[in-house]
Amino acid sequence: MEKIDVVIVGSGLAGLTAANYLAMEGKNVVVFEKANRLGGRSMTNNVNGALFNIGAHALYKGGEAIPIFKELGIEIRGRNALVQTHGIWKNKAVPFATGLGSLLNSPLFSWSEKFQFTQLIIQIWKMNIDKVMTISLRDWAEKEIKSPMIRHYFYALCRTTTYTHAPNLQQARTVLRQLQRTLKTGVIYVDGGWETIVSDLRKKAENLGVKIKSHYKVERVVDRHPLKTIRCANNETFETENVILAVPPNEACRLIESSSLLSWKEQAVPITATALDFCLTHLPNPDHQFVLGLDQPIFFTNESRAAKVCKEGNVVVHLIKYHDPSCSDYDPHVNKEQLEKTMDLLQPGWRNALITQQFLPKITVVHDFSRIDRQGPIGPEVPSTQGLYIAGDWACHEELLADGAVASGKRAAIKILEKSKILV
Ligand SMILES: Cc1cc2nc3c(=O)[nH]c(=O)nc-3n(C[C@H](O)[C@H](O)[C@H](O)COP(=O)(O)OP(=O)(O)OC[C@H]3O[C@@H](n4cnc5c(N)ncnc54)[C@H](O)[C@@H]3O)c2cc1C
Repeated sequence: MEKIDVVIVGSGLAGLTAANYLAMEGKNVVVFEKANRLGGRSMTNNVNGALFNIGAHALYKGGEAIPIFKELGIEIRGRNALVQTHGIWKNKAVPFATGLGSLLNSPLFSWSEKFQFTQLIIQIWKMNIDKVMTISLRDWAEKEIKSPMIRHYFYALCRTTTYTHAPNLQQARTVLRQLQRTLKTGVIYVDGGWETIVSDLRKKAENLGVKIKSHYKVERVVDRHPLKTIRCANNETFETENVILAVPPNEACRLIESSSLLSWKEQAVPITATALDFCLTHLPNPDHQFVLGLDQPIFFTNESRAAKVCKEGNVVVHLIKYHDPSCSDYDPHVNKEQLEKTMDLLQPGWRNALITQQFLPKITVVHDFSRIDRQGPIGPEVPSTQGLYIAGDWACHEELLADGAVASGKRAAIKILEKSKILV
């Protein structure tokens, strides 16, 4: 077999991004994916014609992923549709203060709070994020926001934009950056689901000569410096000098012994959520399109108001229950009931409009994130093993969510390219 310059294990956004950057520079790349489909958590499931991402997925326009996709020649097709936001407070849906009109009408704020909230939004909009000290989101909010009701609003906005409900751990700077970007540029819901991004990354990589082997589980990576042997579950073996592990932390540690990987895995704090997605014949209450829980960590969005993800006239909606990482005893049935009750509140009669659904009891949103107590930076090189690199959302630096996965894939590829130039 011809010489392989780089083996990539995992074909999520991180692995496919790395493959493209390496192949653009003429490297001979092989990607192994254990599933029979590519994309990992960026897959889209076609359930009777409804295109369900793995829970609600929106791409942040101001984030790191979009410029990287642009560099790779990948165009994102989709949009956002701004609508009146609502909040859930004491089991009632109320207009959420997003513009001047809704702020003035907000039943939950006093006049003084309406003024303070406006000031907070202006403060975040104008803020020089790089100057925010290394403190937790909770400490920042307690110091800057006096009113408990405004803090509820603020945390709801932070949860939705970061998909993370851990204010004691989250780095204030990264959350405020995400909030500022979202206020200024918004998000994109992707036509055809995130699978279209995966499929474009695949096509582009294959055109550049990348060999993609799906249904190929890697069982072991053995370091015989400088070569590494990749052993697959079907007992085939491959040799290369460079390996990018674009897989979750547990899997990376299973594949190869490395003290650095182990210490990164041990400190990682995964974020999980319960996702309940529906395809309906219509939206029973069209006033409720985008709703944030204020006194409970819940989120509802009608994705099909913006993206083409179902038959004309039907709707695809997503509900999310964010899990607190310090609490490990989430009961999937209780969560499902809570989300169904939220549907009863927001979309009464939805059961009569139901076409199909997808339930994900406990799905990992990210395997780690920018935390105040994180010993970093994580990757791209694995210091204890030459020629070994990691990518994936847990190898994020200050990027969040898919932006972290994509940016880490690019980082790993660039590091390999830099090193190979030095050796030449
Ligand atoms: C419910 C939910 C909602 C989300 N919403 C958003 C959002 O709105 N915006 C946003 O930016 N991000 C969002 N995310 C996060 C985003 O989906 C992830 O950060 C991103 O998809 C992770 O990509 P990855 O490449 O790091 O990992 P993955 O997608 O997990 O890819 C890892 C791949 O490695 C493969 N693999 C594992 N072990 C092996 C092996 N031994 N051999 C071969 N292959 C292997 C797996 O099968 C998988 O395909 C959300 C995630 C979830 C779950």
